[in-house]
Amino acid sequence: MTIKPTSVRFKRAASRLRQIINSGEEILRASWIKMTHTCGKSGCKCAKGRKYRHTNWYISQSKDGKTRMKSVPRNYVKALKVKTEAYKEARELLAVIGDEYWNEFSNRQKG
Ligand SMILES: [Zn+2]
Repeated sequence: MTIKPTSVRFKRAASRLRQIINSGEEILRASWIKMTHTCGKSGCKCAKGRKYRHTNWYISQSKDGKTRMKSVPRNYVKALKVKTEAYKEARELLAVIGDEYWNEFSNRQKG
């Protein structure tokens, strides 16, 4: 017996999810944390105020109920952002797919 939802919303989400997975792009489950600091060198731009501070990027991830963090070197930020965006989108698509199955199954029980 097949219970695959027939809605356009389901088809779009399932198709986009397959596209992401087949694209070969890695999916990184992590969120970004931006931290700024002053370096302490006199005459550095960061001494001029908050908006001139140096920026460091970190990714964070929950693991066994705890949050872990890792510093990301500047030259990796762009490449890793693509992977965390892929995760974000895949997660949203999975939520849509879950919803649509839920609706489909609910409708069948009414009938
Ligand atoms: Zn500085």
